Amino acid sequence: MTDSLPVVESFHSIQGEGTHAGKSAFFIRLAGCKIKCSWCDTKESWSFHDHPQQNVSDLAKKVVKARERGALFLVITGGEPLHHNLEPLCKAINEETSIKNSHPLSIHLETSGVHQISGRINWITLSPKKHYPPRQDILDICQELKVIIHNKEDIRFAKEMAKKIRKNENSHLQSTQPYLFLQPGWNNDEGRELAIEFVKKNPHWRLSMQTHKWLGIT
Ligand code: SF4
Repeated sequence: MTDSLPVVESFHSIQGEGTHAGKSAFFIRLAGCKIKCSWCDTKESWSFHDHPQQNVSDLAKKVVKARERGALFLVITGGEPLHHNLEPLCKAINEETSIKNSHPLSIHLETSGVHQISGRINWITLSPKKHYPPRQDILDICQELKVIIHNKEDIRFAKEMAKKIRKNENSHLQSTQPYLFLQPGWNNDEGRELAIEFVKKNPHWRLSMQTHKWLGIT
């Protein structure tokens, strides 16, 4: 079992994107990404080796402190967090937060969905990438689908992904359909216009805004 993980940063802030935008959250950004999107805004997270290993128990203790200061949930992000086995981290967080509180803290995951889920995850934000499509089992269980829009091809991809959601025969076990988001690429005029026009005509989709960037916070 991996009892340490490479961590780019961990911090208490406001979730800026998606369904839970505006809520107090603690973030752990894991290092390592093989997806290598050309427009990635966290390229410093790609290397698996340039960031210090942190023990999962120490990370869990940071999560507990953040919860005491108001964090409603943990967001595991990256990089691509599923390049790692998240089971030991989730287990440590469950144990630490259950000791201090009657219930374990909710764990959210931001992933491109290219690997199997590991660990107890309560909320999956699937952000699929055209050049490295996600696994069907993650399309079946995610709570929100968030597609980044730079051009018309991304709109086509978003529609294709939405069609594939909950296609597995066991998908009916999920009680709700996922939220659908288009998120314009940062500083991308074409993506912004396309996403806005699409959401105006397709109101079961919503616009995700990266509000933390607009606010200039981490
Ligand atoms: S999957 Fe995420 S972290 Fe990896 S390159 Fe793409 S945007 Fe960057």
